[in-house]
Amino acid sequence: MTILDKSFEPFIFESDIKNRIHALAEIINSQYEDKNPLFIAILNGSFIFAADLFREISIPCQISFIKTASYLNTHSTGTVRELLGIDENLEGRSVIIIEDIVDTGNTLNHIMQTLRDKNPATVEIVTLLFKREALKHPIFPKFAGFEIPNKFVVGYGLDYNGHGRNLKDIYQLKNAQS
Ligand code: 5GP
Repeated sequence: MTILDKSFEPFIFESDIKNRIHALAEIINSQYEDKNPLFIAILNGSFIFAADLFREISIPCQISFIKTASYLNTHSTGTVRELLGIDENLEGRSVIIIEDIVDTGNTLNHIMQTLRDKNPATVEIVTLLFKREALKHPIFPKFAGFEIPNKFVVGYGLDYNGHGRNLKDIYQLKNAQS
């Protein structure tokens, strides 16, 4: 499968993503019962994961969105730009950040610091994908869908220069490309 100038191969199928999200939601439903968690989804990449996960949450809860950008082509630039901030009062709230993928952890490191300044009771992370080998910051998602190798992926909300977000499965960059 080709997107712009790069070739990708199938990596995680829609049915496996669906099953994993159902399992993650069951854990969150039991751990956050009576806590009225506030989910904060990080746009753009997490919009599809957030929508699917949120509909599997069966306890009282709320959701809000933050928009950041740090990626250019297939690499992180290291600088996190906040394009849309958070208005909600987080004082005493049980916050769960919804992220599509934790790579270097740079984005979440920045966001966690910003959120902690607002005095929430707890801040945890649910991420669909976790590239543990790429981690450069002390970011440890409490809930992770799949641990994956340090290779660029697209699909299910994740893009390559704005393309590929609509793919139902997740694809991995073919070898000998970066
Ligand atoms: P980090 O700040 O952890 O390095 O990167 C976080 C953000 O970079 C993710 O939210 C995602 O938007 C983007 N990103 C990281 N790895 C990948 C990847 O393999 N594929 C795509 N499409 N985006 C990625």
